[in-house]
Amino acid sequence: MSDLPEFIKSLYEKYRFLDDGSLASYIPELTKADPNWFAISIVTKEGEIFEVGDSQEHFTIQSISKVFVYGMALEDCDRQTLLEKIGVEPTGDPFNSVIRLDENSKRPDNPMVNAGAIATAGLIKGVNATDKLNRLLSMFRRYIGHDVFIDAPVFMSERATGHRNRALANLLLNFGIIGDNIEEILDLYFQQCSLIVNCHDLAVMAATLANRGINPITKQQAVKPCYIRDILSVMHTCGMYNYAGEWAYRVGIPAKSGVSGGIMAVIPDKAGIAVFSPLIDRRGNSIRGIKVFEDLSDQFNLHLFDSPLEKCSFLDISQSSQESMVIGNR
Ligand code: GLN
Repeated sequence: MSDLPEFIKSLYEKYRFLDDGSLASYIPELTKADPNWFAISIVTKEGEIFEVGDSQEHFTIQSISKVFVYGMALEDCDRQTLLEKIGVEPTGDPFNSVIRLDENSKRPDNPMVNAGAIATAGLIKGVNATDKLNRLLSMFRRYIGHDVFIDAPVFMSERATGHRNRALANLLLNFGIIGDNIEEILDLYFQQCSLIVNCHDLAVMAATLANRGINPITKQQAVKPCYIRDILSVMHTCGMYNYAGEWAYRVGIPAKSGVSGGIMAVIPDKAGIAVFSPLIDRRGNSIRGIKVFEDLSDQFNLHLFDSPLEKCSFLDISQSSQESMVIGNR
């Protein structure tokens, strides 16, 4: 079966009652999510949309934001300056790990773990905290294609309970990676994590990365094309934390997860895919999300190292007669 709309419908049915995993509870507000929420969205670089389930349900983007803020920091600084402060090595450690900071390099290993993401937030330019936040929101607006908002209760909840992130920020200050405006930097980091999105938005954002930084719906340039390579590389090697190696092996496309249950993946030059289901595993990755991506990758030979000859599929969907499809709760 290579028909994309039928296939994602079948994946939705196959996994909708899979209830392994749990809601993220270390950020208390996230326990208000409905464990039944489930959506799959695909947006091609031509702007076709295929989605099923709760694709309009709102949730906070959490760690998926790190990808986009990294792109902004690349534009604000430059590749070399950024590399001196934040590495590009996968850690194999959990996303909130502290240990690695203290080893030889004295800098976070990569921008996808919290330490690296807080350091990245510290590099965003602006005359004051409001200016930095406004610049960040404008950047997200370019990717999403409509006005964006921050979930205030989630932001407050993260800020009130983020002791571990505060510890990371203090270590970063100790190593001279960030300045002493720790609370301002942490606020920006908590705000980026509390951005409200839905599964459809995430797929559009991923499709923008797939389309050399141009939003396929609005045609607006969201990030300079020269940095797409940097962004996709760190997604590919570090985006799924301590599951990154297994993900690269099983699924084989650059992706990023967040603890609220989103996973966003980029098929370069083709499409963006997002899955949302808030039940996560102990590594912080959506369980239904992983299953859906494994099946999609197998079905359509999406793995980067699948033979080009085998890459049939929905990648050529725009030339086929299939029409955009939305099933479910829009
Ligand atoms: N805001 C969360 C944190 O800092 C993001 C973590 C995640 O999504 N993996 O812990």
